[in-house]
Amino acid sequence: MPDRRGPNEQSLHAEITRLNKIIQALMNRAERNTSIQGSDFNMFQTAITLEDQVRRRTAELEDARQETEKITRALRESENRHRLLIENSPVSIHEIDLAGRIISMNRAGLVMRGVQEEREVQGTFYLDAAREADREIIGKLLSRALAGETCHFEFSTNGPEGKIFKSCFVPIKNKSGSTEKLMGITEDITERKKAEEQVQQLAFYDTLTHLPNRRLLLDRLRLAMAAGKRNNRYGALMFLDLDKFKSLNDTHGHEMGDLLLIEVARRITCCLREVDTVARFGGDEFVVMLCELDLDQKHSFEKAGIVAEKIRVTLAEPYLLKRSKDEGEEIFVEHQCTSSIGVVLFKGHNASQNDILKWADSAMYQAKASGRNGIRFFDIQS
Ligand code: GH3
Ligand code: MG
Repeated sequence: MPDRRGPNEQSLHAEITRLNKIIQALMNRAERNTSIQGSDFNMFQTAITLEDQVRRRTAELEDARQETEKITRALRESENRHRLLIENSPVSIHEIDLAGRIISMNRAGLVMRGVQEEREVQGTFYLDAAREADREIIGKLLSRALAGETCHFEFSTNGPEGKIFKSCFVPIKNKSGSTEKLMGITEDITERKKAEEQVQQLAFYDTLTHLPNRRLLLDRLRLAMAAGKRNNRYGALMFLDLDKFKSLNDTHGHEMGDLLLIEVARRITCCLREVDTVARFGGDEFVVMLCELDLDQKHSFEKAGIVAEKIRVTLAEPYLLKRSKDEGEEIFVEHQCTSSIGVVLFKGHNASQNDILKWADSAMYQAKASGRNGIRFFDIQS
């Protein structure tokens, strides 16, 4: 039978055997000497005391042996538990050697790599599986991890599935503190990222036109006002409402109205720079924010006026709207629609974002009251 005991247990057992042998030898010697009278009696006494000590020590060693056995069993159980956890973990857990080659990889890792057997990845270079575009950056992180630093990173894969992964390298160090291998952990976060994007989209964007919504515009206005305080430049806010939009809904249906709103959003966006924002406020109302116009108020008015006029003219161009009926038949509608625009300038003044919106809105109502298809400026002094 092979000896299944650990090295500690074996050495304890050897010690017990050795001590038992010593006892036996002493006892034998004492027995042989019982025939000798006088001075040999002391030797007999000594042997008895020694035997007593050895027995006590033997009992202690036996206790220690049992304790070691218990610890060994617990360690073995804990090791099995960890192995089970790693093997069934939903994230890839892999080990990488000092040359950057894969030593081991759990099942989730093999699935992520699209292979069946661990031996298919064992011994291959970790970097070989990275996208060409990511190889340099991941290679640098790998070197830093081998130098003892824990590194976190994200990367994505090519192809139609376009997966996104979150990963880290953790250096595993030996007793002297030098790295002997790396533990790598990689999680597929594609679904989580998609969900985050959807939440972001729903919270900050209009579902029909995909333009920023009121909440996002107010936030950008807050930032633009803070920037205005620092750089002393004016910005402009325009409130825009389509004229007699309801008539399109009434004559051609809500869906045709939706198509017009989408086209209006596209046309306004085409009139703006990247730094500007157009938001849909609901219904047929849009708000445009122009940033960093000019240090001078008059020049800022002029610049805002030029953009407002460009938008007004662009929106007044005829629309050709096309909708498919359920039966596949296509319906075309030609439509003419104008807009009324109210403009207000802002800088880092003490008004709130809602005040600025209110002023632009009241200028827009003046444009409506003056016969529509026009632009009115709100005078902050008034
Ligand atoms: P005015 O010149 O005074 O602005 O007249 P208007 O007909 O444009 O009327 P108003 O701006 O007061 O109303 C906008 C209408 O837009 C009200 C509503 O029926 C319609 N509407 C609101 N939201 C939507 C939408 O998401 N899609 C469509 N198709 N219509 C909408
Ligand atoms: Mg309207």
